[in-house]
Amino acid sequence: MQTTSIPPPSSRAVLRSYYCLCGDFVLVIQGKLDRLPQRQTDHAYIIRSQSGSDQPARKFKLNAEPGQKYLLRRKDGENYEMRQPFLCGRCKSTVAYQVTPPPPGSAPFLYVLKGAMTELQGRVPPDAFEGESDLDQESTI
Ligand SMILES: [Zn+2]
Repeated sequence: MQTTSIPPPSSRAVLRSYYCLCGDFVLVIQGKLDRLPQRQTDHAYIIRSQSGSDQPARKFKLNAEPGQKYLLRRKDGENYEMRQPFLCGRCKSTVAYQVTPPPPGSAPFLYVLKGAMTELQGRVPPDAFEGESDLDQESTI
């Protein structure tokens, strides 16, 4: 008997590798980072790391070491957010964070800092310095 196995939609997405700006491999993820939704506060990319009622979790593997957690006061009000940063193993730059202790993926969402990773090893992404100057954005997509 011949059976045709159709993979579920989640496993068909291409896995992509991302690198820290120093060139170290830091993330493999299903799909493209720049297609992910972004936080309104800091424009970090939102990786859904736990399945919700409406959406499945996204497959990813973060190759970064946990840094020192800290409390961040939110701009809008009295609320604090616990931040557990994850650092590149080589240059110790923060590449991602979540709001619960390690390991990565133990929180509903993992946030990847905008401009902290690039898909092409050794190349700085065009958004690396976004927000650090007042230059006009000529080619905002
Ligand atoms: Zn690095």
